[in-house]
Amino acid sequence: MKIKKLGIMGGTFNPIHIGHLMIAEQSRKKFNLDKVIFIPTGSPPHKDEKQLANALDRYIMTILATSDNNNFMVSDIETNRYKTSYTVDTLELLSQKYKDSELFFITGADSILDIENWKNTNKLLNICTFIAATRPGYNVENVMAQIRKLEEKYNKKISYLTIAPVDISSTQIRKRIFEGETIKYMTPDPVINYIYNKNLYK
Ligand code: ATP
Ligand code: MG
Repeated sequence: MKIKKLGIMGGTFNPIHIGHLMIAEQSRKKFNLDKVIFIPTGSPPHKDEKQLANALDRYIMTILATSDNNNFMVSDIETNRYKTSYTVDTLELLSQKYKDSELFFITGADSILDIENWKNTNKLLNICTFIAATRPGYNVENVMAQIRKLEEKYNKKISYLTIAPVDISSTQIRKRIFEGETIKYMTPDPVINYIYNKNLYK
């Protein structure tokens, strides 16, 4: 199948949860994306690893969460290397691999607010179209103002996606596991089983 429009969903996915899956699927529908590729980030070599599951576990959980959706794919382009990759470099590689596809990078409100701290914002915004999804805790007016500012400064359109608020973060899931609270329905069952079998986030 020819991929005309490719969605890219980057994240630490530590672990992946319903919020990630919902913004990916609703972006796919709204912007007519043929596929969405999930790309878990690599592990920074010097970071405190305690709360960060290793790259392979995060990659496997991402596969477990997405395997029932034919339009979702998972890439190990960042998790299979020792060094952490910058998003802009990953997108450059993807734009070469999928040179006939239009690329869309799917993010939540917090990422779009932070985007000027990422390496080479100008190239990032021009290599793909950013989609900014609403997220609880992030004021809609601030996000809209940021979108307008970025559009003007970098002369590139940014798309906006309103989703039903999902007040879930990976941080919250890790905390709940640590405290012995249930995480059922916050992420798909195969991910939950994997977390318990591997004793992650304890
Ligand atoms: P952590 O708490 O560890 O930072 P997280 O839940 O923020 O985890 P990330 O892997 O950091 O998850 O996020 C990947 C992308 O998904 C980011 O662009 C983020 O904005 C977006 N995202 C995550 N959770 C949600 C949510 N509940 N609603 C909308 N967007 C979300
Ligand atoms: Mg986050």
